[in-house]
Amino acid sequence: MWVVDYVSGFTTYHYHSINYSLIHYLYRMIIKSAEFVCSNTQISKLPPPVKPEYAFIGRSNVGKSSLINMLVNKKGLAKTSQTPGKTQLINHFIINDNWYLVDLPGYGYARISKSKKEDWDKFIRNYLNKRESLQCVMVLIDSRLEPQKIDLEFCNMLGEKGLPFALIFTKADKQSATKTDQHVALFKKALLATFEEVPDVFITSSESGLGKDEVLNFIHHINQHFSPPLISPKGGDF
Ligand code: GDP
Repeated sequence: MWVVDYVSGFTTYHYHSINYSLIHYLYRMIIKSAEFVCSNTQISKLPPPVKPEYAFIGRSNVGKSSLINMLVNKKGLAKTSQTPGKTQLINHFIINDNWYLVDLPGYGYARISKSKKEDWDKFIRNYLNKRESLQCVMVLIDSRLEPQKIDLEFCNMLGEKGLPFALIFTKADKQSATKTDQHVALFKKALLATFEEVPDVFITSSESGLGKDEVLNFIHHINQHFSPPLISPKGGDF
């Protein structure tokens, strides 16, 4: 029922829905535990890549921390409203002892210096390029805004690297569903200038819980197909 297509180097998942509510029930993910594991500034110190991993990223203030806390039912797990430009950390959380949720530092701080931006680019690109267990980059987009250049550029960078990504539109409770749909449609249209097909899209609200089951089920489905990369006893790759 789930069909995987390989288009433009990234994977997209389509629900071929016959009985949506039954499938939804069978495939749903229940959060039993969510724990902070570590914060890292160095890629070499990340946990071994033996569990499927999902990286959440977006512009500062997009609602990333609120979304993470909403998804795993734990207020305060991800720290909200971090100070722009402070030490860049990759935060790992282990969910259900089974998969990693990764909170990446946000992009697009207005007052960040050029050298800090370059540091961020290098740091994030390094993580994205090297993390073998990364299954999907969850790109958060503020649903109240028309397509922003910085978000489109980030998606294009992921596409160029052939990295799978999904779009999560945040703060949908802040305006009408019609307005949200308009912004989603505009974003998809903008992406189609460079992609053959748009990735999966989720519309969410951390206030109401909208989209929670859909995002978790998406992850749940991918987890079921995960097999860990081969690691040598010394920790280097084969
Ligand atoms: P981050 O910087 O991307 O981690 O964003 P935060 O999660 O700290 O959220 C930034 C601001 O937006 C905070 O004031 C949140 O309370 C607010 N916010 C985040 N998500 C939502 C949402 O879904 N609905 C509403 N109404 N406000 C939200």
